[in-house]
Amino acid sequence: MSYVQRVLDDLKARNPGEKEFHQAATEILLTLEPVINAHPEYEKAALLERFTEPERTILFRVPWVDDNGNVHVNKGYRVQFNSAIGPYKGGLRFHPSVNLSVIKFLGLEQILKNSLTGLPIGGGKGGSDFDPKGKSDREIMAFCQSFMTELFRHIGADTDVPAGDIGVGAREVGYLFGQYKRIRDEHVGVLTGRGLSYGGSLVRKEATGFGLVYITAEAMRMRGDSFEGKTTIVSGSGNVAIYACQKAQELGAKVVAMYDSNGYVYDPNGIQLDVIKQIKEVERARIKEYAARVPGSKYVEGCKGIWTIPCDVALPCATQNEIDGESAAALVKNGVKYVAEGANMPSTLDAIDVFQNAKNVVYLPAKAANAGGVATSALEMAQSSGRLFWSAEEVDAKLKTIMVNIYHNIESAAKRYGFEGNYVMGANIAGFEKVAEAMMAHGIV
Ligand code: NDP
Repeated sequence: MSYVQRVLDDLKARNPGEKEFHQAATEILLTLEPVINAHPEYEKAALLERFTEPERTILFRVPWVDDNGNVHVNKGYRVQFNSAIGPYKGGLRFHPSVNLSVIKFLGLEQILKNSLTGLPIGGGKGGSDFDPKGKSDREIMAFCQSFMTELFRHIGADTDVPAGDIGVGAREVGYLFGQYKRIRDEHVGVLTGRGLSYGGSLVRKEATGFGLVYITAEAMRMRGDSFEGKTTIVSGSGNVAIYACQKAQELGAKVVAMYDSNGYVYDPNGIQLDVIKQIKEVERARIKEYAARVPGSKYVEGCKGIWTIPCDVALPCATQNEIDGESAAALVKNGVKYVAEGANMPSTLDAIDVFQNAKNVVYLPAKAANAGGVATSALEMAQSSGRLFWSAEEVDAKLKTIMVNIYHNIESAAKRYGFEGNYVMGANIAGFEKVAEAMMAHGIV
């Protein structure tokens, strides 16, 4: 049995029931075989065993009081996965589906993604099974303050720098930062995605979505192609989806459908993003509203049907496993040419197989395609440390350069190992090489 397979089998046996973590580890480790074979010293140093075991896992209780005086208790998580190349860095997710398996899958992916940015950031992830939907502002604040009252002792500007993710946007980051500052009496870059009035970076909010479109545009450019006139589907209608849609439209794409967790809207004339922003960012309402406001569009209950709409470009930007094998097959049958992942692990292993085996489909996996968010978080950290504030043009230009570099790095890593055009292998290998080298340099720690 190969070293990789043995580590994978052990990982599954020692972390029972963690299906998302198993899925991510399988996807990553199997693609690393060629690197492992080229470096027999890794097995002796138990490199993969250490790489797949978090350096530290913090689980805590988050009690809070709702507007009616009822006490609730949620679970809090922070997985500090790997600090070989820099302080732990990765978002916080507040969603009822959060459990240790989800946080570990996200943390493992984050290590490689952060490495791909070329910036000095390690991998971590955290969150809670708290559901922000339907909560008042005061309840959100109470929850965030309670969460930070435990988390503060484990993080720091040079130790671990969390950010937002699903359910954690500007409002939540503000409350979390306020409580950290109050307890520690330090105004430092301990969280990214901060508001512009208290140390945030321009373009951070837009960065994941913009970066996704920049890397896709580079893949297109290398093939003499562009977004111009491309029928595009962007799933989700949160932070990543909205700014992916904006940049794709700026580059000439026609985005025809988006969804939230209840259902999708289809607008053959092209999605009016200002209406989506009003519904989602201002009113925090359901996407269904769009069809009531925009003549010629329609709303369909349920999400899955979105992938049966013919398109040239699919940008899944909502959540894990939103595209299964069947949806992937429908996309391919309808002639999709580019699939680039804004969400983390939006394609199941079956779906990835379908995309990889289809001729003429360029498939850009999440850890490369959505790295623009964390890359800009690292730029926010740099501005915080230097007490500097860069212009939007400056940050946007750096983001674009980073995404173009990621594309070429994953392209050349795949080619170097004889898997040209396989960006799953390219991204995993290019991300892993740097982390492995640093871990080997540090000795057995
Ligand atoms: P948001 O909370 O802003 O938006 C999430 C969107 O996805 C919402 O429209 C939500 O719908 C929808 N959604 C959530 N769960 C489901 C589901 N089970 N089925 C269908 N739709 C669902 O999150 P973000 O935009 O920040 O994050 C989206 C994805 O991108 C996540 O996978 C995240 O990990 C990833 N990501 C985010 C980064 C960032 O900078 N924010 C960076 C890199 C990756 P509803 O409104 O109904 O909840």
